Amino acid sequence: MILEQLEVNGSLLTFGTDCFGEALQATPPDGYSSVFVISQQNIWDLHGASLAQALQKVSCPVSMRMLPDGEGIKNLGTFGELLSWLADKGADRKSLIIVLGGGVVGDLSGFVAASYMRGMPWIYIPTTLLAQQDASIGGKVAVNLPQGKNLVGQFWDPRAVIIDSMVLGTLPQRQVNAGYMEFLKHGILKSEDLYQRILQVPDQPDWSQEMALLAMGLKVKVDIVKEDPFEKNIRRLLNLGHTFGHALESYTGYKQFLHGEAVGLGLVFAGLLSTRLGGAYDWSDMIGVVKSRVPAFQVGGWDRKTILDLTLLDKKGVKGIVSWIIPYKPGKVEIVNGVERHILEDTFEEFMKQMR
Ligand code: NAD
Repeated sequence: MILEQLEVNGSLLTFGTDCFGEALQATPPDGYSSVFVISQQNIWDLHGASLAQALQKVSCPVSMRMLPDGEGIKNLGTFGELLSWLADKGADRKSLIIVLGGGVVGDLSGFVAASYMRGMPWIYIPTTLLAQQDASIGGKVAVNLPQGKNLVGQFWDPRAVIIDSMVLGTLPQRQVNAGYMEFLKHGILKSEDLYQRILQVPDQPDWSQEMALLAMGLKVKVDIVKEDPFEKNIRRLLNLGHTFGHALESYTGYKQFLHGEAVGLGLVFAGLLSTRLGGAYDWSDMIGVVKSRVPAFQVGGWDRKTILDLTLLDKKGVKGIVSWIIPYKPGKVEIVNGVERHILEDTFEEFMKQMR
């Protein structure tokens, strides 16, 4: 059943439950010269039947490619293999790619769609909460280099994005918790009301009952991306929690935390930093929720200097000055260019105390 449809930067966005077929009717895969489905075997085993059924009426040839699991596939090697696969199968500009998967498969396959014959249409069905709240909107597609994440990419919006709550029912709990942090971030960006409602979402919700709230969360990103599609200005607000989060991911060698977990810790840091900068909002409820959803970790041995130095490498900074996204309260979030080191150090100590 479709709950809602809206258009964002040329993509038709559909929210619903068990709605692959209905949603695809609005942007039918028919009328293309060929269709290429890209997914992962584990995801296909869980949700492929619904997509296969939705594709039954397609009269053109349909080819499928299952990728291995993990961030490791988001590289130039797999990118090249997928391009060659399309060429071998005779794909042309009138072909369509349909992607069923999380942010890894989405970023990689979207970049393939952006690059093959200088761009071909694609439809994205995100299957993780993180991809449904974040990666599926805004058109950023990319692969990693050994030197860093997402270093090669483009902006290439899919023709349609299908956000179906049904797929979230099979997501491992840790992935739910990680995606939840981007959802929570949207609540903080928007308003006290949305923030409070997202705080109340249980760890193991019936996602079909939360669809309206998920749509409200995603629309926060939609509105920002519509206003600033190429990240010139207010889109940087979406970096809330990411400056410190990226530093932690890097410090721990991308091994200890999922991206969303690191963002959750970054939200805590940003909340505490807002207090140091004069904000009066009490972030203890958020801190409690983040602590309960990020796996227990030892902060004791962390080196403050190295971690704070890593925040200086944030890609979103301007002329070497780090832009910190400061939540003074839910709905009042500002970009602050450059925060004095001693304030960051004090905030770090408070963070360590709170997270113990
Ligand atoms: P992921 O795609 O690796 O998926 C996480 C895990 O969940 C995988 O093991 C996957 O097999 C499994 N999975 C996916 N859907 C499932 C389902 N419905 N049921 C059971 N298991 C399922 O990771 P992710 O967190 O979705 O995405 C992370 C990637 O997204 C990173 O590469 C990041 O850079 C990228 N990203 C992109 C953007 C953007 O704007 N393009 C934004 C945020 C993150």
